[in-house]
Amino acid sequence: MDFDTIAAISTPMGEGAIAIVRISGPDAFMIADKLFKSINNKKISTALTHTIHYGHIVDPANNEVVEEVMVSVMKGPKTFTKEDVVEINCHGGIASVNRLLQLLVTYGARLAEPGEFTKRAFLNGRIDLSQAEAVMDLIRAKTDRAMNVALGQMEGRLSKLIKRLRQEILETLAQVEVNIDYPEYDDVEEMTHLMMLNKSKNVKIEIEKLLQTSQQGKILREGLSTVIVGRPNVGKSSLLNTLVQENKAIVTDIPGTTRDVIEEYVNIRGVPLKLVDTAGIRETEDIVERIGVEKSRQVLKEADLILLVLNYADELTNEDINLFKAVEGMDYIVIVNKTDLPQKIDMDMVGKLANHQKMVTTSLLEDNGVNQLEEAISTLFFEGAIEASDMTYVSNTRHIALLNQSLQSINEAIIGVEMGTPIDIVQIDLTRTWELLGEIIGDSVHESLIDQLFSQFCLGK
Ligand code: GDP
Ligand code: ZN
Repeated sequence: MDFDTIAAISTPMGEGAIAIVRISGPDAFMIADKLFKSINNKKISTALTHTIHYGHIVDPANNEVVEEVMVSVMKGPKTFTKEDVVEINCHGGIASVNRLLQLLVTYGARLAEPGEFTKRAFLNGRIDLSQAEAVMDLIRAKTDRAMNVALGQMEGRLSKLIKRLRQEILETLAQVEVNIDYPEYDDVEEMTHLMMLNKSKNVKIEIEKLLQTSQQGKILREGLSTVIVGRPNVGKSSLLNTLVQENKAIVTDIPGTTRDVIEEYVNIRGVPLKLVDTAGIRETEDIVERIGVEKSRQVLKEADLILLVLNYADELTNEDINLFKAVEGMDYIVIVNKTDLPQKIDMDMVGKLANHQKMVTTSLLEDNGVNQLEEAISTLFFEGAIEASDMTYVSNTRHIALLNQSLQSINEAIIGVEMGTPIDIVQIDLTRTWELLGEIIGDSVHESLIDQLFSQFCLGK
């Protein structure tokens, strides 16, 4: 495929002191040579690949120095796009970076469309579609952990697994062909049935496993929705503030507050949480009274994790006990706060109510017990993900939809075999499963779908 040369700022706009302008394509070196003056007069086009050069960007029209830069030279195909790539690291402000970009365009580059670098990597066979989407997730990843998931996917874990499943189906389809060619042999037919059944069931199990992880993938990308509940004055706001102060997620682009509740993103030992504080409502009136019992139950139901706060220096009340009822069957951690004050609460009773759920005591005032709470949160999460380190997470909505469809058609194939449906009908379901799985890794997608996917990327990636 023949491509032109594209350029874009590949670092987030307005963020950080360093901006990287990336150029990719057949003329990348030539264009860079027109603008870059190294201190020892070295040329980009004759430089060794994967080397960095110090110098200045000079406007050829008036010999004015635009920027002091470091230029990375990377010769294809060992680059992200498989093309010749030049990355210009500037430390100037947006204005001079934009001027550099304009110069690049003047001297032969075209401004890249959003996601176009990744699109090229895909079209040049450098990465497959699920990897390309992982890059997109990476760009959007809100926490380190989500980042690892995205990275894992980029390494092609999901692709590998999908390829293996497709291979199994392919082998089955080959056997079906044999069977159709030699219909007179009974044992061939029997073998085919057996093989179809075994392989299909295998594939089904694997797809189901993948889908099970999808819930987690989703959680990882958006943060576990965590709701803090408790009577007024037990320390909910204090808890939120403590967790936020110590673990504020790196992200800054998420609005901290919504109209009714306060939402904060924190990263607790690798577990991304979206903390929902109902305190804002409770300060003035009771959440249950205000939005009604049903509605507040619903808020709780939608939570992935609940932090139930009690007051150590107060006796248990009916309201406390009602809260335990409300969170029954959910993942929650009991926090008995204000241990710096004389005890009034009946801890045996709390233990019974908590019924094997995790429990920690804290004094938020004296900053005690917060570590244990964080430990409890991360254990709770990672216990549920025993295979976390080498698990394939599916977190992409398109992948999940395709996996669900694949599951449906492999199921139809299995039912077909079991009911003795003619083999060429079962074959259709198997082929469909194979195609659907292929769509996940981009083996059977149309150009338009590709365009649509890549246009979602951030500019310059
Ligand atoms: P909320 O109504 O549940 O959100 O409770 P707040 O976080 O607003 O706390 C209510 C009051 O309890 C505030 O005056 C806090 O300073 C105080 N408080 C919170 N945690 C502790 C604690 O561990 N010990 C003591 N002694 N006071 C606390
Ligand atoms: Zn409060």
